[in-house]
Amino acid sequence: MSGISLSAASLYNRVQRVIPAIEWPAFCQDIDAILRLKRERNAVILAHNYQTPEIFHCVADIVGDSLALARKAMEVEADVIVLAGVHFMAETAKLLNPSKTVLIPDMGAGCSLADSITPEDIRLLRQRYPGVPVVTYVNTSAAVKAESDICCTSGNAKAVVESLGVPRVLMLPDEYLAQNIATQTDVEIIAWKGHCEVHERFTPEDIREMRAAHPGVTVLAHPECPPDVVAEADFAGSTAAMSDYVGANKPSRVVLVTECSMSDNVAVEHPDVEFVRPCNLCPHMKRITLGNIREALELDKHAVTINPAIAARARLAVERMLSV
Ligand code: SF4
Repeated sequence: MSGISLSAASLYNRVQRVIPAIEWPAFCQDIDAILRLKRERNAVILAHNYQTPEIFHCVADIVGDSLALARKAMEVEADVIVLAGVHFMAETAKLLNPSKTVLIPDMGAGCSLADSITPEDIRLLRQRYPGVPVVTYVNTSAAVKAESDICCTSGNAKAVVESLGVPRVLMLPDEYLAQNIATQTDVEIIAWKGHCEVHERFTPEDIREMRAAHPGVTVLAHPECPPDVVAEADFAGSTAAMSDYVGANKPSRVVLVTECSMSDNVAVEHPDVEFVRPCNLCPHMKRITLGNIREALELDKHAVTINPAIAARARLAVERMLSV
């Protein structure tokens, strides 16, 4: 570890189980620069659970799933928010704390779910299903949120759907999340055809093979997985719920059926638990690196802006969700 500055070096203890020592020196310069820039710019970094451990555990100030990041974004008092996640998350932070500068280190960090639906699609659905409320997953653009009645996340979708007190809702755009929630509620759910390109790749055979290869493994699946995958799991929940499950139940061996980095990040907190790691990467999340977080803070790249008329309507949909 020679040549490593003290502040980055002191962080290595936190991640040594998931970052090999030989890789660590490559991160140190950027980590030290980011820690300094955060102080100079009065900035905070919000990182999603799918960010890599050197971001999640070494430079982030606030970590969590989409719901936690949205809630925390509202409370940020710093001047600058850097969103280490994908574009819709940065938009949500800007919606909820509009006076702050919100930076996304790579404008190309998108999401297959967000790309699967447009505002025009929602307007057409409203014509087809008059009077049926539109519940929109937060994994959508601000323009799509603006056409919605209320947002939801995978952590609160059931509660949001049931809060409306209606027999039928449109739940967009994740078909699998909608189908999985439909098994938990009496509310009729009309779905869209959007899928997460990471979670749709898991199959029931994958789960059965994991169980055969790793006897006794506890299987936790994200509700963006197809329903036949969720049916094979021991528990289904948001990334926050999976993390809580591991903390509360301390399974000796566990597999998190979700994006790759999630296991690394949870494993850091639970050294006694063995993590089986099937690896489906989200290419959008992985566009965020220490290098472009540093550049974002140095050069104010890339500030998120939202048309004020769209922002006002989208904010209402997100705030309704947060009040459930
Ligand atoms: S993991 Fe799936 S839902 Fe999340 S950002 Fe990537 S593509 Fe979108």
